Amino acid sequence: MGGTFDPIHHGHLVAASEVQDIFDLDEVIFVPTGAQPFKLDRDVTTPEHRYLMTVIATASNPRFSVSRVDIDRAGITYTIDTLRDLRQTYPEAELFFITGADALSQILTWKDADELFSLAHFVGVTRPGHELDDAGLPEAGVSLLEVPAMAISSTDCRRRVAAGQPVWYLVPDGVVQYIAKYELYSRKRSVRNEVR
Ligand code: ATP
Ligand code: MG
Repeated sequence: MGGTFDPIHHGHLVAASEVQDIFDLDEVIFVPTGAQPFKLDRDVTTPEHRYLMTVIATASNPRFSVSRVDIDRAGITYTIDTLRDLRQTYPEAELFFITGADALSQILTWKDADELFSLAHFVGVTRPGHELDDAGLPEAGVSLLEVPAMAISSTDCRRRVAAGQPVWYLVPDGVVQYIAKYELYSRKRSVRNEVR
């Protein structure tokens, strides 16, 4: 499951847990992005903070892990490169890529879109406020799954912290504490999502 995870929240975690269960996956690998092509005009928290929050949020689940492939690769993050790298690391594995409804509807605009489906089976999950639709995507390459509705977004979590409102129960406790410790989202701690 790729994402900016700025910060990771319970919407991500419930979606991952549900797909793990339904598809009987051995492992769900969370892959925090490097510089995101669709977020280049936005301030994004440094990759190391996003990576560590993802580690904290997933540490207690034996089936969850976090990969550094995207944050350690220079340049813009494209999912095609993520999947190629993971394929190299796990040559025998059957790969699945988990996306929320909003991301699924964008896939055809992603780099090397037609090749994506030969590298992984895509699982599109429901997300409140977004239509889950696989129109235009190869039928055999995509499954749609209804997951418990969590009306949470990282954007909203960041806004809440900036406004002094709580994010308890929207993100895991350790992430609430990590955000407070490093004063993320409340002070100038982000850097331009620049391409290294
Ligand atoms: P932002 O508001 O910064 O874009 P976000 O909440 O959308 O953050 P991302 O890191 O952009 O989180 O999303 C990573 C992946 O998780 C995407 O595929 C997205 O669709 C999915 N996702 C995020 N939030 C939810 C949610 N509440 N329910 C289901 N899927 C979600
Ligand atoms: Mg998003």
